[in-house]
Amino acid sequence: MILDLNYEEICEYVKNLGQPAYRAKQLYEALTLGKTLEEVTNLPKDFKEKIAKDYPEYEVVASLESRDGTRKVALKFPDGSIVESVLLKYKYGNTVCVSTQVGCRMGCKFCASTIGGLKRNLTPGEILAQVIYFNKVFGGTLKERKVTNVVLMGCGEPLDNYENVTKFLRLVSAEQGLNISQRNISLSTCGLVPNIYKLADGGFSVTLTISLHAPNDEMRKTIMPVANAYRIEEILKACRYYFEKTGRRICFEYSLIEGFNDTDKAISELATLLKGLPCHINLIPLNSVKEKHLSGTPRKNAYKIAEKLTQMGLSATIRRTMGEDIEGACGQLRNRIGGENDQ
Ligand code: SAH
Repeated sequence: MILDLNYEEICEYVKNLGQPAYRAKQLYEALTLGKTLEEVTNLPKDFKEKIAKDYPEYEVVASLESRDGTRKVALKFPDGSIVESVLLKYKYGNTVCVSTQVGCRMGCKFCASTIGGLKRNLTPGEILAQVIYFNKVFGGTLKERKVTNVVLMGCGEPLDNYENVTKFLRLVSAEQGLNISQRNISLSTCGLVPNIYKLADGGFSVTLTISLHAPNDEMRKTIMPVANAYRIEEILKACRYYFEKTGRRICFEYSLIEGFNDTDKAISELATLLKGLPCHINLIPLNSVKEKHLSGTPRKNAYKIAEKLTQMGLSATIRRTMGEDIEGACGQLRNRIGGENDQ
């Protein structure tokens, strides 16, 4: 699939097909704008026929719009895999939340993405297609793109698909492409420590977000199996390294689960844990997932928790819950419309 290729690789591809160099620019533009092959009018017919088998192809199998303007789509790739992507509208621009894998093998107890396990990794182009799709829907052009920010917070664990995800980061931030600054991209991970170091050493400048969800290893192990592989202390050490390398403040996701991690004791422990680390805490009352039996902290308590953390000297805000009426939480839409069971 040629959306997996960067500009230099497209040039090579075009050259190998015996076409003049300027065709590469035309093809790359068409791909970046998300044109279907039928919509491409400036390439010769025989060339289009030759590239048809490599041209990106997907079908929109569901599209939902929330009262707050959040849009969610399920895209189906030729092998039948379904991924979901969300567009969130903020005052400062549009953010696309992309999936990085079909399913997930991390097994977090509260997350719908893990229900059928991991089916496969997405390729760099399949991740990019999700951003390009929304840019196209909103009428983006090369001069004026309509997507300003990207978060890797859909289905899948980005650092469990390291090579493809990092190539995607390069593609989406490429000057000739959508040119979205890596500073406007957040990569969220449950904490695969070795790959946090790799990312830091790889020269990336994305915001690193850690899904923490518990103030100590013992509690974390009960909801996140990955906690058996990496201790919080090791994750925080890797975060410090990432901060030293990139100068980027670390983000921590803390989904508030009623009666579990929202108690005074848990919150004080969280504050002690993160004190001194240049970071921001994103609190979000857990989105309840039908198949999982956990409930979110009531919103007014969540506000009190944010206040408490702020008083203790930390930077903490409550993430706006968006798109709840369209099953905004990871994996929910895909599971409802069939996901891996549909073939
Ligand atoms: N695998 C990556 C990214 C995907 S999930 C990670 O773990 O960070 C994006 C965020 O949504 C994570 O913080 C995840 O823990 C959280 N999440 C998953 N299910 C949720 C739910 N039901 N309610 C609230 N947050 C949830």
